Amino acid sequence: MQGVGFRPYVYNLARRHGLGGFVLNSPRGVFIEIEGDADTVEAFVAALPAEAPPLVRIDGIARTEVPTQGEPAFSIHESEGGGSAFALVPPDICVCEACLSETCEPGNRRFEYPFTNCTNCGPRYSIILDVPYDRPMTTMAEFAMCEACEREYRDPGNRRFHAQPNACPVCGPRLLLAGGEAADLSEQTSRRILERVADILRRGGIVAWKGLGGYQLACDARLPTAVEELRRRKRRSEKPFAIMVGNAETAVSLCFVSDQERQLLESRERPIVLLRRRPEAGLAEAVSPGNPATGVMLPCTPMHDLLFRILRERWSAEPALIMTSGNISEEPIVIENAEAEEQLADIADVFAHHNRRIHTRVDDSVVRIVAGETMLLRRARGYSPQPVWLGRGDAEVLACGAQQKNTLCLTRAGFALPSQHLGDLENFETLRFFEETLERMSRLFHVRPTAVAYDLHRGYLSTQFALKIKGLRQIGVQHHHAHVASCMAEHGLDGRVIGVAWDGTGFGTDGTIWGGEFLAADYLGFERLARLRPVLLAGGDAAVREPWRVARSYLLDAFDGAVPDGARWAAAASPQHMRVVDTMLRRRVHTIPTSSAGRLFDAVASLIGLRHTVSFEGQAAMMLEAAAAEEWSGSDEVDNFALAGVGPVEVDLRPMVRQIVAAVECGEPPGRIAARFHRTLAAVIAAVCLRVRAGLQLNQVCLSGGCFQNALLLEGCVRRLREEGFEVFFQRAVPPNDGGISLGQAAIACERVRRSQE
Ligand code: ZN
Ligand code: ZN
Ligand code: FE
Repeated sequence: MQGVGFRPYVYNLARRHGLGGFVLNSPRGVFIEIEGDADTVEAFVAALPAEAPPLVRIDGIARTEVPTQGEPAFSIHESEGGGSAFALVPPDICVCEACLSETCEPGNRRFEYPFTNCTNCGPRYSIILDVPYDRPMTTMAEFAMCEACEREYRDPGNRRFHAQPNACPVCGPRLLLAGGEAADLSEQTSRRILERVADILRRGGIVAWKGLGGYQLACDARLPTAVEELRRRKRRSEKPFAIMVGNAETAVSLCFVSDQERQLLESRERPIVLLRRRPEAGLAEAVSPGNPATGVMLPCTPMHDLLFRILRERWSAEPALIMTSGNISEEPIVIENAEAEEQLADIADVFAHHNRRIHTRVDDSVVRIVAGETMLLRRARGYSPQPVWLGRGDAEVLACGAQQKNTLCLTRAGFALPSQHLGDLENFETLRFFEETLERMSRLFHVRPTAVAYDLHRGYLSTQFALKIKGLRQIGVQHHHAHVASCMAEHGLDGRVIGVAWDGTGFGTDGTIWGGEFLAADYLGFERLARLRPVLLAGGDAAVREPWRVARSYLLDAFDGAVPDGARWAAAASPQHMRVVDTMLRRRVHTIPTSSAGRLFDAVASLIGLRHTVSFEGQAAMMLEAAAAEEWSGSDEVDNFALAGVGPVEVDLRPMVRQIVAAVECGEPPGRIAARFHRTLAAVIAAVCLRVRAGLQLNQVCLSGGCFQNALLLEGCVRRLREEGFEVFFQRAVPPNDGGISLGQAAIACERVRRSQE
C-alpha cells in the first residue's frame, strides 16, 4: 500500500469502526495493527481498499493474527526502520475540487490563495528533500504554520490532517512579480500580480512564471505575433508548443476530444494531452506549424486556475495560453527565481515568481490515447516518481538510459524506479541534471547499486558516465533489446517473446545502426530474427536532418541506381548537391548502413513531397502520420513487399518504394499514399511475426521503440496481430521512445544479477 494521506485515512477508518491499534510506514509498506471484535475487524478490512481516497494505491493486503493487547485507542506511529526505510515518494498532484472551491469562495480564508492544498492534492515530489515525507523534509519547512493551519493539520477529522504543504495567505508562500513592468505595482497581492500578468499577456507579452515543477513560459496562443515572438526569442523554429486552457469545455471547442481524452485532461496527473485541432480553432498557426495536433492541458494548481479566472474577467474571448517549459534551447527546465531572471532574461517580459522553493525539476508530462490506452510520450509531473513492480529479485542496479529523452532508473526491493524525463543528454546542463537526479533518487530511495547498465553506443554521455563508475558490475545492453525488455517488464512478462523494436537510431552489435528490428528476446539475451533491408545513410547526422538524403538512398536501392527522372525526387536540394549525395551512396563513402524504421518514415515523407528537411527528429514522421490520418479509410489495400533470406530475415521494401514512386507520378494524393504506407508496415510486422511463430512457437509480441508513438502504425499492428491470435503488448507505464530504455536496461540487469547469484 502506498500513497499520500494513507495513515490519516486508516486512522479515521479505524476510529469510525471503534477499533484499537496503530498504523505506521514500514520498509515493506504500510503496517496496521487492529484490535476489536471479529466482525468489526472484517468490516474494517473490507472497507480498507473500498473506501480508499484518490491518492492511495493498494497493491495487496497480507494479514496475520496476533494476540490482543487490550488497546482501546487507535494511533499513528512514527515511521519504522530509519536508515533502511524504503518509502515510496508520491508524485505532484493537481488541485482537488474541494480546495479549488475554497479559492473561489469570497469570505473563505483561502479565497484566491494560489498555494491552497490538502492531503488529497498539491505538490509532493517537487518539494520533498528527503524521507520520511514530513514537513521539515520539504521546502515548506521554511514556512511556520499559523494557528488556524496548525489546527487543521492536527485535527484527524480535517481534510488537511497531516497535509505537509498546508498553507494559507497568512503563513504560506506568496507570489512575487519581478522584471520591467513590476516596478510600479504598489501592492504585491495575488490578484494584483495576476491582473498585471493578464494585461501583459493580452498585449502580446511573454511571461515566465513559476509552476509546480519548474518555470513555464506563457503567451496568448491566439495572437500570432506573440507566438512568433516567443519562437524567435526561444530559438525554436517549428517544434510544437503546448497550450493551457481554463477548462475541458474550452479544450472541446478547440480540439476533437473523446470521452477518454477528456478524462485524461481532467485526471489528477493533469498531463499535456495530444489532440487533433478543429479547423476553426482560431489558434495562431505558429502554435504547431504544419501539424494538426496540439498538446493541451488544464490548470493544475490554484495559481493557474486563478490566472484563467482573471483572464476571463478581463478578456472577451475564452483564453488559450501557450504554456511551454521555461528553459533555453534544450537545457533542463529552470526552477530557481534568480536562475530564471538570468537565463530567461531575453525571453520573458516579466517574471511571476513565488517563494516556495522547487527542489526537484519535473517537466509537464505528455500523453496520447493510442489503441484505446493512455500512452506516455514524456513521463514526468504527476507520474514520477511512481515505481514499476519488477519482481525480479531484490538486486539494486542503476540503469543510465540512452541519449535522447533520457531517463535513468534505479531498482530496489523488486521495484523499478524510473526517473522523470531528463531531456536529451547532449549538453553539460542536462548531464548535470542527470547526476543530480541520480544523487537525489539514490538518497530518497536508499539505493546502493551493485551493477550499472548502459547502452552499447560509446558516444552517449550516459554510457560514458556508466563506464566511469568504479567498483560496479558493468552490464552493456543493446538498445533494441532494452526497448523490448522495457515492454516486457511493465507487463510482467517472463520467458521469450517476439520483440518488434522500431525506432530512429540504436547501436547494433554489428557496429551498424539498427532500428527496424524483430527479436526473439527474454531478459537474459536476444536473437535478431528479422530486420528491415538496410540502406545507406549519407553524411551521418545530416541524414537525420535532411530526409531527402534517405529518400535518395531508398530510390537508388529500389531502382538499382537508375532513378526515373531523378531530379524531381529531392526538391530540397540543388542538382549539384543531389549528385554529390548520389555519388557518396554509389561509392559508399561517408555512409553507414542502417535498418532504421524511423529513417524509412523520413524517406517516404520526402518521396511524397511532405517534408525534405526537418528541424527536429520525428517531424517528418509526424507529418506523414497526420497526412495518412486525413485520408484514413476502411481500406485494406497495401503495397508489395517481400521477406527474403533467413537469419536474420530481411524485409525487402523495394517493391513498395517503386509503387510509391508510380503513385506519385500518377498524381495520387500524398495522404492516400501515406495511409497505404502505414497499412503496409502493419502488414509487414504481422507477416514477420507469423513466420517467427511458425518457427519458434512464440505467441507474445512486444511492440516498442519511438515508431510506436504513431497511432496508425500501432493500432494497425495491434489489430492485425490480434486477428492472427497473438497476445500483443505495448508500453503504457513508460514511453515507447528512448525515455523507456532505462526501465528495460534495469530489468535486464536485475535478471543477470539474480542469475549470477543463484
Ligand atoms: Zn485539495
Ligand atoms: Zn496559515
Ligand atoms: Fe530507441
